[in-house]
Amino acid sequence: MRAEGYETSKQYAHADLVIVNTCGFIDAAVEESLGAIGEALAENGKVIVTGCLGVKNDLIRAKHPAVLAITGPHDTPAVMSAVHAHLPKPHDPYTDLIGVKLTPPHYAYLKIAEGCNHRCSFCIIPSMRGDLVSRPIGEVLQEAENLVKAGVKELLVISQDTSAYGVDVKYRTGFWQGRPLKTRMTQLCESLGQLGAWVRLHYVYPYPHVDEVIPMMAEGKILPYLDAPFQHASPRILKLMKRPANAEKVLERIRDWRAACPDITIRSTFIVGFPGETEDDFRELLSFLKEAQLDRVGCFEYSPVEGAAANALPDPLPPEVKRYRKEQFMRTQEAISASKLKRKVGRTIKVLVDEPGVGRSSADAPEIDGIVRFEGGKAGQFRDVTIDRADEHDLYGRLQ
Ligand code: SF4
Repeated sequence: MRAEGYETSKQYAHADLVIVNTCGFIDAAVEESLGAIGEALAENGKVIVTGCLGVKNDLIRAKHPAVLAITGPHDTPAVMSAVHAHLPKPHDPYTDLIGVKLTPPHYAYLKIAEGCNHRCSFCIIPSMRGDLVSRPIGEVLQEAENLVKAGVKELLVISQDTSAYGVDVKYRTGFWQGRPLKTRMTQLCESLGQLGAWVRLHYVYPYPHVDEVIPMMAEGKILPYLDAPFQHASPRILKLMKRPANAEKVLERIRDWRAACPDITIRSTFIVGFPGETEDDFRELLSFLKEAQLDRVGCFEYSPVEGAAANALPDPLPPEVKRYRKEQFMRTQEAISASKLKRKVGRTIKVLVDEPGVGRSSADAPEIDGIVRFEGGKAGQFRDVTIDRADEHDLYGRLQ
């Protein structure tokens, strides 16, 4: 699902089988997931569906009866047994240790926790996946180390609420390579930063201890990239959304982060057209956007999700208002993004090559952000690219 940002590689045609990792978080995501399943079926034919939407077996079967198997979220054994039922299991004593990896060989998602202690009114993830459960830090680091040894160049740290890592186990001490480590985002980042791969953080709420990872970004230990889903800027709407953050403080925090790490890329997602959103609330959101000068932004029109508390809120907005606000929002952000990218023209930046001619810099997470285009290169290489040109989303340059 693009909304929260994750998709598998789309090189369907040459794959032995395609696993579509779906999301049922909002209606737009359901549609997008069903579209991705259809696309994978058309191009490859052998498709296994997993992820949140997997709990809606009937919905998937009604639309795509040809899928081989459907599993619920995070049921790796069920996914693997479906894979093995349809493909002979390749035996490799090393990669067998690693488990399922739904990405190209040079990057991998590293899930550090499951579930969430928040209760945002538009979201049903906690009711589907429960409260936060952090994976033991030693297990996460071992998986990361295995991935890097197997050739992964970029680790994308994910969970529903990355900065809450360890809250559920009271930051319990675990062990990695014989050393004691607290189950805490900052200690995790310190250790991941020693593995020699790019480390990119997703879904980071601006809790106070997030400030501790910014110096690690400035020192180059982890990528200077922070994906923090703010969702809105009007305190009234944030309250209706039951979001844990306050917009005024967020602006302050962004200023401090940029002062400590001038190269930081900040990405966020927003929902427009939430029930009860007035013209004033929306204007507040636009002025936040102009002030925050975020580097990367995703925007969704609010759509009710079955079972979400927000469905009971009064004053739903008509579809045309939601659409109009989204367009205005995106136009505002495009101008910001274009001017920020223009400042990169003339600079030489490091990219990780995804395929010949296409790479990503520290500012670009796979699938959800822009790309850097150039001639040549090989998937999985780190290369320097001098930037000649920019548009609202992407950069264009020459390999050095
Ligand atoms: S923080 Fe809110 S939106 Fe994110 S998973 Fe938790 S409840 Fe859902």
